[in-house]
Amino acid sequence: MKQAPPPRARRRFGQNFLVDPGIVQRIVRHIAPRADDRLVEIGPGRGALTGPLLEACPNLQVVELDRDLVPLLLAQFASYPAFKIHRGDALKFDFARLLAETAGGGVLRIVGNLPYNISTPLIFHLLGFGRQIGDMHFMLQKEVVQRLCAQPGEKAYGRLGVMVQYHCRVEKLFAVPPQSFRPAPKVDSAVVRLTPHATLPLPARDVATLERLVNTAFQQRRKTLRNALKQLMAAESIEKLGIDAGIRPENLTLKDFVSLSDSLSEHAQTQGIQ
Ligand code: SAM
Repeated sequence: MKQAPPPRARRRFGQNFLVDPGIVQRIVRHIAPRADDRLVEIGPGRGALTGPLLEACPNLQVVELDRDLVPLLLAQFASYPAFKIHRGDALKFDFARLLAETAGGGVLRIVGNLPYNISTPLIFHLLGFGRQIGDMHFMLQKEVVQRLCAQPGEKAYGRLGVMVQYHCRVEKLFAVPPQSFRPAPKVDSAVVRLTPHATLPLPARDVATLERLVNTAFQQRRKTLRNALKQLMAAESIEKLGIDAGIRPENLTLKDFVSLSDSLSEHAQTQGIQ
């Protein structure tokens, strides 16, 4: 009997399937999955990465939004009884549940060739699970990887880089050209590793305040700090921390952001503001 053709790639689900076995191998080598890892793949698609990951780690779990792919994946990997598919939206998925459901504790290892349209909110969602995640390996649009790695003064430096670098060590692993996918995306891609810090090198008194501050600062990245942070703090309070209120937010280091945030938290506490 002739097999039904696989369903067409869906743009709205950001489906660009990996078709280059060399790239798949390279990603898996960098992940170095082990049999007892609590490995979770986001967006398995047609299983390009799922197969080699399962070979190394038979209790792999996946989260896939496209319900049409689920029966195909189940059939394709029927010989792995511990393989589990969660049909749902990774943006709303409670990853901590996967740890709570299995004995032995440990940490989750997250991997995925991510749909580019949701990669930033998804990374923020995953940061919320803190040290319950051991590491993350993602294929992302090259520009997103540049933003993740960006340093003060660089064009790509912004909210994403600051907040991810606050929580994680960031390593760009390698670039991937559009021809490695079907359909080929219009952009270049790259693979990145994010490793949540076991101990935060620059802990803020209150991370929600830091998030609010970084967000406000980069909404007005071309303005001076004095103006960009006008709603949050006075120029004198900025200068008191040894930070020039005349520079732009894009020139602040993570340490500067944490000092500003701590000063805001302290001020809120003395004023009795929540
Ligand atoms: N891993 C496969 C590969 O490398 O060929 C597919 C990668 S494709 C770029 C992205 C995958 O994520 C698709 O399978 C898509 O259906 C799935 N996806 C899209 N949005 C999602 C979401 N919000 N939650 C979970 N999966 C999602």
